[in-house]
Order: sequence, then C-alpha cells, then structure tokens
Amino acid sequence: MREFRLPLLEPSQAQLEKCVYCPKLCRAACPVSEVEANESVTPWGKMSMAYFAARGDVPIDAHHGEPAWACSNCYACTARCNHRNNVSSVLTDARADLFTRGAAPEAAQAVSRQFQARAESLRQLVESVESEHRRAHHGHGARASTEGGALSVLVGCGYTRHAPEVARDALGAIETLLGAPARAVRACCGQPLLYAGDRRGFADAARVLAAEVNASAGPAEPLRGSRSPKDTPRFVVVDPGCARTLLVDYARVGVDLPAPTLFVDLAHGALERLDQSVSTLRARYHDPCQLGRGLNRYDEPRAILKQILGRQPEEFGYTREHAECSGAGGLLPVTRPATSAAIADRRLEEHRTLGGGLLVTHCAQSLRRFRQSGEQAEDLVSLVAAAIRPG
Ligand code: SF4
Ligand code: SF4
Repeated sequence: MREFRLPLLEPSQAQLEKCVYCPKLCRAACPVSEVEANESVTPWGKMSMAYFAARGDVPIDAHHGEPAWACSNCYACTARCNHRNNVSSVLTDARADLFTRGAAPEAAQAVSRQFQARAESLRQLVESVESEHRRAHHGHGARASTEGGALSVLVGCGYTRHAPEVARDALGAIETLLGAPARAVRACCGQPLLYAGDRRGFADAARVLAAEVNASAGPAEPLRGSRSPKDTPRFVVVDPGCARTLLVDYARVGVDLPAPTLFVDLAHGALERLDQSVSTLRARYHDPCQLGRGLNRYDEPRAILKQILGRQPEEFGYTREHAECSGAGGLLPVTRPATSAAIADRRLEEHRTLGGGLLVTHCAQSLRRFRQSGEQAEDLVSLVAAAIRPG
C-alpha cells in the first residue's frame, strides 16, 4: 500500500482489502443499498471508495467522500461477514479523515456547526424534564435533590428532545429500582459529532460529559438492591446508542468514565418486581441495532417483555443478530432522509403484514422513526416504568 492519505484508516488496511476483494457476501444485509438499489452504497462499495481515497486513487472531495455517510451504523454487514469486518467502525474513521480534509457532506458539517447551540438547549430541556419528573414523583417544593448526589443518569438526547415522557419514565423507573434520587446528566455524549466526522469535537464533548459525571459521583453508599457500595450502580445510561458510544468510542479518544450500567440490565435484574401491565392483544419487539448487535442484548429485553406481557412478544421474520434496521442511526435521517424513511417504511410494512399491534423498541431514534410514520410504538422504558413495583 502506498502512503495513506486518510491516516485513521491505516490500521484498517486488512479490513478494507477484504471488502475490496470480496464478492459482496453481505450485500443483502445492508438497508441502505437495499433501499437505494445502488452498488456504490453496498458495504463493498463504501469500503472500496474509502480504500481508493486512502490510496490516492480518487480525489478527496465531497463527491467521493459522500458514500462514507451512507451508513446507518447498524452492524448488519458485520453479522453476515465471515471475517466479521467492522464496516461501521471503519466508515466512521473514514468520516473523521474526510471531515478533516473538508470533504464531509454539508448536512454533516451543519451537525458540527450547530452542536454547541444544541448542547445548550439540551441542558435546558434536561433540567425541565427533571423538574417535571420531580414534581410528579415528589410533589411541589421537592428539593433539587441530587446536586452532588451519588447516582447519575444519562437519558439521551433523542428521548429528551423527542420523547420527553420516556425521559421522565426513565428517571422514575431508575429511582424506584434503586431507591435513590437520580440526577440527570445535562451533557450530550457527542455521538452526533462522531457520526458527522468531527472527531475533535466528539473528543471535547466526551470530556465535558465525563467531567460532569465524575463531578456528580458522590460517596459510594449501597443503594436498594445492592449488596455493597462496590456493586452499587453510580451511573446509569438509558439510550443504547449513547451506551455503545461510551463503552466503545470513548476509549478510542482516550476518555475514561465510571463503568455505566445499562437501563435494560437494571430492569432485567429486577424481573420479579415487574407486574404484568400491558393488556394489548399483540406486541412485537424490534431489536434496535445499538442494543442488539451493538451491545449483544437480545435475551434481556425479551425477558422483560415476557414478564410485562405475561407471554413472549411477537417477532419479526429476521430477529436478534439478523434483525433489520429502522434506518434511524448513523445520522442517516440527516444525511439521507429519504433513504432513512424508506428503511423505516420497510420495517413497518413487515410489522403490519404480520398483523401489526404495539411495536416495542428500546432506542430513541427508532422510536421516533416509527412514530413519525404513524405507528403505535412504545419504548421498553415506559413499559417498565408502568410495571415496576417499589422494592
Ligand atoms: S463486510 Fe465482509 S462480507 Fe461484506 S463486503 Fe466486506 S468482506 Fe465482504
Ligand atoms: S453498518 Fe449497516 S448501513 Fe452500514 S454498511 Fe453495514 S449494513 Fe450497511
């Protein structure tokens, strides 16, 4: 290989070459190329273009860079690949190099430019969600209870902005599960910047969030359900996309955090406290990409749903590792809105063909996508909040 013009891709040379010389075995797994019917946005096409740009075979410009953003970061190709090639991660690195070289699409650059203003509005929205939660659960005059408290909760921007009732449900359910007041983290994990390609901005956002979480970590005292301070959750993350960013991508930019506890694990650890609370005839579970392939949680949400429904949830044709994407990840709704909507429509068409009913997910982005298309969709968080018994 000649000198790499996209240096972040250098460690991925073997993965890139495997894709370039592959007969596109994962082709049918990619929601983007399936919807667009375009070879240049198959995993093979996107990896090949990144490889050619890195080698200097094509110009580094917005036209040749654009396929790197034609990815919902769903990991479906990796699940089909004999080499388990991590296309999502390589394309995310390609975005960072292309962004630095001024070859990012305008929509991705806009995400970067607007991030600070959105971070400020997020802070205000989180405070408002937390106040409403406190009023509802602790009554008027409730103390701004948890400044400097021991339990931090990162709900996620998607829930806070587009489904604030889920954000409130999350705070209520976590406080009930752990028997302690929770403080909602005011910062964004930076995932929009990561997917936009603004790696420096992402690292800055990660440091801001880490500083806030570390500053609010109080003295370790056992919370309800914990045997000792050591196994007490200090930091709970609700949105699986944020959790994956913290667990995988923060290490790549050298940012340390206390190990987060996933909301789904917390609820799964308290199954005996969940009442049967949903009487709907049909409820089908959508495996969110970040929770399933991203964090390997397939059994936990199903066990929670079984407890709440009193029976197993209904399933799609392809489930678990081979579940299909909702089209809501990887900034696709911003960079390729029509493709993102068409991917969601495919998912919903299957749901309706199978008999419809309540569609349950556990991901702010897919929840929003499904609701935008008029589907009756709920997040696992809200079902847990309605089902949980105080310990
Ligand atoms: S991810 Fe694997 S299956 Fe898909 S093109 Fe690359 S090498 Fe082939
Ligand atoms: S991660 Fe998903 S969207 Fe991206 S290339 Fe692979 S299958 Fe396609």
